[in-house]
Amino acid sequence: MAVIGIDLGTTNSLAAYWKDGRAELIRDENGAVLLPSVVGYVEDEGFVVGEAAKERLLTHAGDTAASFKCFMGTAREYTLGGKTCTPMELSAMVLERIRKNAAFYLQEEIEEAVITVPAYFNDRQRSDTKKAAQIAGLKVERLINEPSAAALACRMQCGEEDQTLLVFDFGGGTLDLSYVECFDNVIEIIAVAGDNHLGGDDIDRAVVQYFCRENGLEEEGLSVGEQAAVRKLAEQSKCGLSTQSEVRMEVELGGRLCRAVLNEDILFEICMPLFAKIKQLFIHILEDADSRISQIDDLVMVGGSSKLQVVKRFLTELLGKEPVVLGDTDRVVAMGAGAYAGIRQRGEEIRDMLLTDVCPFTLGIGVTNRNHRDKNILSPMIERNATLPMSVRNRFVTTGDYQKEISVKIYQGEEYYADDNIFLGEVRIDVVPKPAGQAWIEVQFTYDINGILHVAVENELAQQKQILLANQTLSEAELERYRKEMEQIMLPPIQKPENQRMLARFIEYFENSVGERRERVAEMIDQITAGLCSGRKKEIRNAEEMALHWLEQMEREEDIQEILLFDGALKGDWLE
Ligand code: ADP
Ligand code: MG
Repeated sequence: MAVIGIDLGTTNSLAAYWKDGRAELIRDENGAVLLPSVVGYVEDEGFVVGEAAKERLLTHAGDTAASFKCFMGTAREYTLGGKTCTPMELSAMVLERIRKNAAFYLQEEIEEAVITVPAYFNDRQRSDTKKAAQIAGLKVERLINEPSAAALACRMQCGEEDQTLLVFDFGGGTLDLSYVECFDNVIEIIAVAGDNHLGGDDIDRAVVQYFCRENGLEEEGLSVGEQAAVRKLAEQSKCGLSTQSEVRMEVELGGRLCRAVLNEDILFEICMPLFAKIKQLFIHILEDADSRISQIDDLVMVGGSSKLQVVKRFLTELLGKEPVVLGDTDRVVAMGAGAYAGIRQRGEEIRDMLLTDVCPFTLGIGVTNRNHRDKNILSPMIERNATLPMSVRNRFVTTGDYQKEISVKIYQGEEYYADDNIFLGEVRIDVVPKPAGQAWIEVQFTYDINGILHVAVENELAQQKQILLANQTLSEAELERYRKEMEQIMLPPIQKPENQRMLARFIEYFENSVGERRERVAEMIDQITAGLCSGRKKEIRNAEEMALHWLEQMEREEDIQEILLFDGALKGDWLE
């Protein structure tokens, strides 16, 4: 059973596994590595995931969901084909597809996965990611932070010495910066910073605005279809600049042919406001890490948007030297996850390669505010960016005379008032009735490497109560219900069990034949596979019908062959 590493991205997801001492990417039946993190519902057919769903984003916006990772851990719901789905369920569909693609690619069952999440993901987002994996039939012992995975990939490729890295992960909708220190076999995240609303989509939006400006159009004045067409053109043109120095943009809007030219200099200009925001994030993370830009050995470019030359140009100016590019920037996180999967598979766990992480947010409890008694304030226990694992113990005293009980409310966040933060849970414990300020309790927060928080509260009589947060898994009944739903999701034609069985028979014929017949079977396999992978309904049906017809023909041929071999007479007696 294989262990795979999965980069479950906002825009694209992909997986890697460990083979012969290195991470290898997993491809789908068409040879593609990236699976768009998009889910759609197709009338009379069911749920589709990936490229097929992405294509429907424009034409069937109401029945298609994208970028749901941004809403992981929230109450946001999507309605697709009349069915309500949470971001967790949609993520489960993406993971299910990845698991099946991997099983198909590796020809073995996938049981376990290492999944990456943004370093700033909170407890709810992390536990929803784990639940999504559980629904998708994957065991997840460990979630790792995306920048840790990127740093690991970087260490695998180029790092032996002690290094301070800044991981710059510029994706479709988000930018994440992480300050990482690497020494010996330890990879330690010192600080994280980022913007949840700054990514390739914003660049596309800026290009759309530029295009409209050049053509004297108001974006709002365009129909939904036209807006979608311009957005698509903007993304294509932006990506086109990776290989061409200039791209001509052209699209018909309201019966008029609209045009503009996009080149590096124009794009640089368009991106200026975004670059200003990025610069602010650099200042923020350097302050948090108590460092300066000259102390960074390498800046590692990660994410699809890091492919843009203008981004590289901006970072080079900011740093005063060239950033590091490790091959395809949108695959680095998955390669790191695959490397970590290798570590797990070899059972060496973190002894060999220690990944320490930081707590991306402050964890604390609500305490009474002297001046403002009806509003509790947050008393931090574990500060944002503290290195994990870590444990903290603090003593708190009662505020009411002869109070019999204390309720310890646990929060996460950076807000001053407790209630403005995310409420995680509550522990109630008896206290010895005494005048205010004399009875006490001790609260211990232990935050482990998997982002699981254990809170223990103890009173003067050494009575203890505990709570474990972010380690919720689904009940058997819930899991059963979700698994049933997953079975409804459409598989690509070539991965369907009946087509797999059929292809296996052709392969058997191939192995048992020689010469001209073998060539003919190879040709058949080729044609059937091409048809099944074509993505076009008619060709898929043709391939399936053709295959059945050929199989029948070959079976008949085989019968004739046997009759000839045994002169017809023996066959019956021999076989029955
Ligand atoms: P995420 O981590 O958000 O899932 P990715 O790292 O895959 O996403 O990045 C997706 C973004 O990268 C999209 O906005 C896409 O337009 C952009 N992108 C992909 N290829 C290129 C390219 N060649 N040039 C510029 N941008 C690109
Ligand atoms: Mg990503």
